[in-house]
Amino acid sequence: MVEFKAIYFDMPGQKGYYFALVMGPLIPEFVDYAQKAEQAAEISGIWPLNKLARLQDKLLSDEGVVEVRFQFSKQGRLRVLACEANAQLALRCDRCMQSMPYDLNTRFEMALVASEAQARPVPEDMEYLVMEAREVNLPELLEDELILALPLVPMHEYDCSDYLNRQKTEQENARQEDYPDKQNPFSVLKDLL
Ligand SMILES: [Zn+2]
Repeated sequence: MVEFKAIYFDMPGQKGYYFALVMGPLIPEFVDYAQKAEQAAEISGIWPLNKLARLQDKLLSDEGVVEVRFQFSKQGRLRVLACEANAQLALRCDRCMQSMPYDLNTRFEMALVASEAQARPVPEDMEYLVMEAREVNLPELLEDELILALPLVPMHEYDCSDYLNRQKTEQENARQEDYPDKQNPFSVLKDLL
């Protein structure tokens, strides 16, 4: 079932809430991966950023959603899960500490196996995950991959050290306006004379 959801979010530097209509529905939390592989099932939908606590630690805002598409398949006897995900994130720039919009696009493919022994046929260039249960936790797996796909040192592409200098000058100017007399110890004397 496809439904539309209104997602409300803040725009950096602007007041008020903006909203976007995105395609729902929420992805299911747990699915039987063996069954989904048999069915060559495709699952697409969204997952809210505010339900991904570990990823949230790295963000300045938890507003918004991840748009994601999972594709299960069988390759020989292997059960394979491919995924494509997209999210607009607000990271903190490591240079100026201000918000930095980041368009995260990631795709990955991995085999889901029940034991190390079952992982033997996994091709060398494919990752695999040993599953402890019959069900895979889709949001958790998604969150792991999103965290891996984040830039190690987020930094604005433009020279935001300019921004820092401007802030510094503005602060100094503000300080001088607050205490104009401090700059001139003779001004009081001058008034007396
Ligand atoms: Zn910056």
